[in-house]
Amino acid sequence: MGFRTDAIHAGQEPDPTTGAVSTPIYQTSTFVQEGIGKHKGFEYARTQNPTRMALERNIAVLEGGVAAYAFASGMAAETAVTQLLLRQGDHAVCTNNVYGGTFRLFDKIVSHGGIEFSYVDTSDIEALRNAMRPNTRMVFVETPTNPLMTITDLAAVSEITKEAKCRLVVDNTFMSPYLQRPLALGADIVVHSTTKFLNGHSDSVGGIAVLAHESDADQLHFIQSAAGAILSPFDSWLVLRGIKTLPVRMEAHNLTGRTIARYLSEKKQVQKVYYPGLPDHPQHSLAKKQMSGFGAMIAFDLGSLEAASHLLENLKLCSLGESLGGVETLISHPASMSHASVPKGQRDLLGITDGLVRISVGIEDTEDLLADLENAFGD
Ligand code: PLP
Repeated sequence: MGFRTDAIHAGQEPDPTTGAVSTPIYQTSTFVQEGIGKHKGFEYARTQNPTRMALERNIAVLEGGVAAYAFASGMAAETAVTQLLLRQGDHAVCTNNVYGGTFRLFDKIVSHGGIEFSYVDTSDIEALRNAMRPNTRMVFVETPTNPLMTITDLAAVSEITKEAKCRLVVDNTFMSPYLQRPLALGADIVVHSTTKFLNGHSDSVGGIAVLAHESDADQLHFIQSAAGAILSPFDSWLVLRGIKTLPVRMEAHNLTGRTIARYLSEKKQVQKVYYPGLPDHPQHSLAKKQMSGFGAMIAFDLGSLEAASHLLENLKLCSLGESLGGVETLISHPASMSHASVPKGQRDLLGITDGLVRISVGIEDTEDLLADLENAFGD
């Protein structure tokens, strides 16, 4: 089936009891059993919930995986993946400008279990090759990165991870499977914050991990059930509903994203624009090859905290807030918000300056967004 058809139908059949077209929200903690060991495949909702399972089947199909497991947040999904892949004494490599929460999880929690992390610019394949060790068990790549939109060549990285017999995990939150399918490029696991484009309506926090290998799938299902950080039935339903319009939303995000990026690149107050759809982006041609659109995430540098504050305080339609990927345009200040947990010295090295602003372009009328920005710049 085509992607649009799968987005609407995969993993979901009309409810067998009533024929309801929309997957019911199975708001139940347990299921009645006919006798000892006699049940309909559902025993206890931490382990099996029909609404969550419909979502998991749906996203597994969209990402081209064998299975997917949904968690209470993107961070909970990432935590479960580290529990799947890493043991004491192991080493992992991670993209150096990942989402600040991912860095915080690895640096402040996972590393306490005797696991060492190296943070490298994974867009530099030689740097990645040099960072690999005999005990490297996971390479975690975010592409494009949050917020600097650096692109990593997933097919090239997967050659290295396959040779090293370690797992390649890709955070596909910024692109969604509509614009990028890492498993098809050789990744082993995809993670998402479903909070973002997959749900798309800024009304649910969740996460998912999609697996390419049956053995990982069985083990991750065990971790989901045993550790218990599951996505609730209502949140599962919200994300299922959101995904039905993912293709049309992403098309609109894409179109407006490109227009806003072009507008920003021509603005005299803007020192630099980070957007893979602009021809001067250092990995523009790789982005064209690896992604089927450039998305709606743009970062731009205004040179100072004062200039960033002036813009952010004068916008009326674009809302200042954490998060991204919703139908409404959200704008943020990474240094004090999403990346506040990254030490200032490292932020400066990466380019996450105090003047950097990140915009998640929504699907409002492009002209209204341009007018809002123009007014806030106050030429
Ligand atoms: N990955 C990326 C790229 C993100 O931007 C975020 C959150 O902003 C996460 C993971 C974490 O997801 P959550 O906030 O759902 O835990």
